[in-house]
Amino acid sequence: MQGIYGGKMKYSVAKPVFHGNERKYLLDAFDSTWISSIGKYIDKFENEFAKYCDTKYALTCSNGTTALHLAMLAIGINSGDEVIVPTFTYIATANAVSYCGAKPIFVDCRHDTWNIDENLIEKAITKRTKAIIVVHIYGHPCEMEIIWRIAKKHNLIIIEDAAEAHGAIYYSENKSRYNAKRRILSSNINKNKVPIKVGSLGNIAIFSLFGNKIITSGEGGIITTNDDKIAEKIKLLKDQGMSKERRYWFPIIGYNYRMTNLQAAIALAQLENIDWHLNRRRTNAEIYNNYLKHSEFINCPIEVNNVKHVYWMYSIILTDNCRLERDNIINKLKKYGIETRPFFYPMNQLPPYYKNNNSNNYPIADKISSRGINLPSGNNLEKSDIEEICKILLQIVKIK
Ligand SMILES: *Cc1c(COP(=O)(O)O)cnc(C)c1O
Repeated sequence: MQGIYGGKMKYSVAKPVFHGNERKYLLDAFDSTWISSIGKYIDKFENEFAKYCDTKYALTCSNGTTALHLAMLAIGINSGDEVIVPTFTYIATANAVSYCGAKPIFVDCRHDTWNIDENLIEKAITKRTKAIIVVHIYGHPCEMEIIWRIAKKHNLIIIEDAAEAHGAIYYSENKSRYNAKRRILSSNINKNKVPIKVGSLGNIAIFSLFGNKIITSGEGGIITTNDDKIAEKIKLLKDQGMSKERRYWFPIIGYNYRMTNLQAAIALAQLENIDWHLNRRRTNAEIYNNYLKHSEFINCPIEVNNVKHVYWMYSIILTDNCRLERDNIINKLKKYGIETRPFFYPMNQLPPYYKNNNSNNYPIADKISSRGINLPSGNNLEKSDIEEICKILLQIVKIK
């Protein structure tokens, strides 16, 4: 199989763009010999990312999955606990819960945003439930207003899996929101709605910096929070659990989940240009929409309620009018050099998890997962590329 950088494909599904200081900072870090997990780029990237998300802390780690694991450990998830997880997500979300010996309890998704269906969450809560992980899937923020209310009522911690959603915004109607403070951005133009960036919508949030994400460091992760205790715990856990006061004294079992200065150098340069990256994604999504929205065979992604979607992936769902199998369409596109991805399998179908929730069913996730395609979504794409991809796709889906 081709890698995500799609060697032979004309259009790969996700290709990073390094048009800023990436190369300069990376070589500077290399030449400085600070190539492990201490260095100025780590500090700078953490400071800038915290500023960007309007959180007190941003803490780097080795990838998005270890970020999720650290988040679970920092809030004290343990064996016997249950954590609510959307069934339609990447497996790392559920695995982080399992790493702690706890049980992910899966909830079906909405048919429009494909995010966790907030109206099904309460039904899944038991005495053992400790937390809810919301995943802003493909870059569309979850419906937080209702989730805040549920979390408050049942005393649950909210973790955002924002691996795919750097820079996405949720507009809150409620100014005295759950666990408020520090969340109001300075550019508050709309009097009635408060824009809140993903990363400060819950108690703790994680981002991935993998090569195909909105911004990247190759491999990498970052955790944001306003909570002093959580931040201290994460610093300890990601650095082998070593005491900050007493060298080689380990009060707990920790992990080596650190990011390197080399990765942080790339990440900092990417963050400097994040507005460009986000604008380009939205512009490209609009170009796709204009070509595809009239097709009776395709449902385009939409922004529901008060959010700014960042279109990590430009994703479509084949309608019931489309007679071709999804995988058949994927193979046909491949012949034209167009690399795509099928949607994730929902967790309820995967071997480690299908036995988890035998009393629940997941009709929406099962359906979208079998009919969804991620089209080429990288910021390397020009308008003419998207035009060509759409022309070919529209021809293929018409076939009876
Ligand atoms: C990519 C991703 C992760 C994992 O991030 P890695 O950096 O690849 O470990 C977790 N959750 C979601 C929703 C993701 O898309």
